[in-house]
Amino acid sequence: MPAPDLETIVSLCKRRGFIFPAAEIYGGFANTYDYGPLGVELKRNIRDAWWRAMVRERDDVVGLDASLITHPRVWVASGHVATFNDPLVDCKKCQQRWRLDHLLEGDYGTVKRDTAGNPLCPNDGGELTEPRQFNLMFKTQIGTVADDSAIAYLPPETAQGIFINFENVVNSMRRKLPFGIAQTRVSFRNEITPGKFVFRTLEFEQMEMEYFCFPPKDRENPAEYLELHQQWIAARLAWYRDTLGIDASRLRIRNHDKAELSHYSAGTADIEYLFPWGWGELEGIAARTDFDLTAHGKESGHPITYFDEETHQHLVPWVIEPAAGLTRTLAVTLLEAYTEEPDEKGDKRVVLKFRPNVAPVKIAVLPLSKNEALRPLARKIYDMVRTTWMTQYDETQSIGRRYRRQDEIGTPVCITVDFQSVGEGENPGDDAVTLRDRDTQEQVRIHVANLMAVLRERLPGC
Ligand code: ATP
Repeated sequence: MPAPDLETIVSLCKRRGFIFPAAEIYGGFANTYDYGPLGVELKRNIRDAWWRAMVRERDDVVGLDASLITHPRVWVASGHVATFNDPLVDCKKCQQRWRLDHLLEGDYGTVKRDTAGNPLCPNDGGELTEPRQFNLMFKTQIGTVADDSAIAYLPPETAQGIFINFENVVNSMRRKLPFGIAQTRVSFRNEITPGKFVFRTLEFEQMEMEYFCFPPKDRENPAEYLELHQQWIAARLAWYRDTLGIDASRLRIRNHDKAELSHYSAGTADIEYLFPWGWGELEGIAARTDFDLTAHGKESGHPITYFDEETHQHLVPWVIEPAAGLTRTLAVTLLEAYTEEPDEKGDKRVVLKFRPNVAPVKIAVLPLSKNEALRPLARKIYDMVRTTWMTQYDETQSIGRRYRRQDEIGTPVCITVDFQSVGEGENPGDDAVTLRDRDTQEQVRIHVANLMAVLRERLPGC
């Protein structure tokens, strides 16, 4: 069962060092969060799992890390300067600002209206201003001269850095169509949306890939291109289910209807997750045709094409773009992993049942007590396993409480060193340790010589 509500996860994240509200000592800073020691590991593991599936395990995709500060004309060509807008309304009474589309969709609760049917402020029922278009890009100034030529934008998505490097990658890596370029990095959007934890933040991480293919034979009826789009939708859905372990019943595909699609798009499907407040987007998979490469070709005056050696013609490839939110996926991974169950005494046991590949800590080495006699073997094991896996060493508090703590941060395996391991009085030690499984709580004795092999089996993909 997933977490019952978001508050449960928010409080666990703070208590256990996953995610902290940013700048709390200054009273907080809306829609910004800091990732703590465990959050940073979880984020890294999800990013690595994506990179592995999208780049390492494929021979048709390569990686890229483009500059965050981007030439301003890139955002003119992409359409972001002109159209990356949200309609905003302000409450004339309490001054709270709302996104009109979200308000009308009921994101802030039941829509209140005046007698003429106009929506009212969800906060205090106050009258709202006329909607104004608000560009979501953060602007920054470069250099010392404050004129327009020095304005730059922080990237609101990662895709454009890929498009403008298309030729560099083709030429340097001798790539033939079809092939993809993948990138993970921070994006920034001046979002006006209160709440919902890391679901929607000002600064977030994305994992995007542009898959370039031959243009379809028939532009109006691009059957083979739409087939490729469907293949990517299926592959991405399978990744959430099979690699992250997200329950299929809480995942769905939502196809955008005509009204939602941009004029150039041949189709977009969102992978959505059933959040505690309803369905929300995790990833968009867009069939963007040749729009972006053509637009950058026009804006820069440098046409971006691919030379087809078979037909000896220059062509503009078409693109499929799976664009996922890393930080949003992290929130889902936490919600899904959260489990409450009764322990052997009937008390509540909280367990984060992460797949081992994403668990922030893979192993905890726990000597039964602080007794000096246990320490040398426990430290030896700690030193042995931590070179391969993220490991914690903990000898404080009772063993039961330490198990609970590791359950609550989702550590798949605990290794306990006791007096049977090191020997006591006349009895020689057996050089074996206890392995405890997080989910079943089963304990087995393993000889130290076999430990690494057993751990490898228990921690697949780690
Ligand atoms: P939404 O409709 O939720 O605003 P979007 O359609 O604008 O999302 P895309 O531009 O398709 O989002 O970005 C791809 C992914 O990036 C989204 O599916 C989401 O996971 C993530 N994402 C977008 N905006 C944010 C944000 N402000 N905070 C966290 N993640 C985000």
